[in-house]
Amino acid sequence: MPSPANKKHPAEPDPGCNQCPRLVAFRQANIKRHPDYYNGAVTSFGDDGAGILILGLAPGLQGANKTGRPFTGDLSGELLFKCLETMGWTGGTNENRPDDSFVLRNVMLTNAVRCVPPENKPTTEEVLKCRPYLMARIDALPRLRVIFALGKVAHDATIRAFFLKLAEYKFAHNARHSLPNGLTLVDSYHCSRYNVNTGRLTENMLLDAMRGAQQANIEDR
Ligand code: SF4
Repeated sequence: MPSPANKKHPAEPDPGCNQCPRLVAFRQANIKRHPDYYNGAVTSFGDDGAGILILGLAPGLQGANKTGRPFTGDLSGELLFKCLETMGWTGGTNENRPDDSFVLRNVMLTNAVRCVPPENKPTTEEVLKCRPYLMARIDALPRLRVIFALGKVAHDATIRAFFLKLAEYKFAHNARHSLPNGLTLVDSYHCSRYNVNTGRLTENMLLDAMRGAQQANIEDR
């Protein structure tokens, strides 16, 4: 029998994970405010044979925290799913419910922090606390070649997860970084409502970065 120290870390947290006190307090408040919401640590969504892992920041209060599926139900997800569809990485129909027919192909979708943070801003400590789930998620994808980071927090979480130096891997939209472990990190601005409304990220820009990820996935095989 393996010792607890050798036990494999699960890729998905229990919905009631209580390792981050600030996030648990926010969850409790949301359960009172929105008892009909999912209000828990959000499980990854996608294809177990994925070559590309799309990494977001954290669940949105009115998106994944409400529906229980990453990027489902808010404006960030609207643009993301539209672009995933254009790339041919989806199937079925998204009805913003985890039990709809929507599926992802060759792509897995997750967040650096699995619980909704106040004002959409997780702390560095919370990113570190959730790191074992990210690492286990990565380890559980045998065909993974590319991590597609949505925003600088996701970029930094990836670099830190592999114990690399942030100074050597600068975040920039559509930047492509070869990591020592053989994976490629592709960056994009986050598809947040703010970035979309201010024009910092357009649909074409997100598609360009996705094409970069697709290219890296093909080249690295
Ligand atoms: S953010 Fe991650 S580590 Fe923290 S409580 Fe949620 S699932 Fe647990």
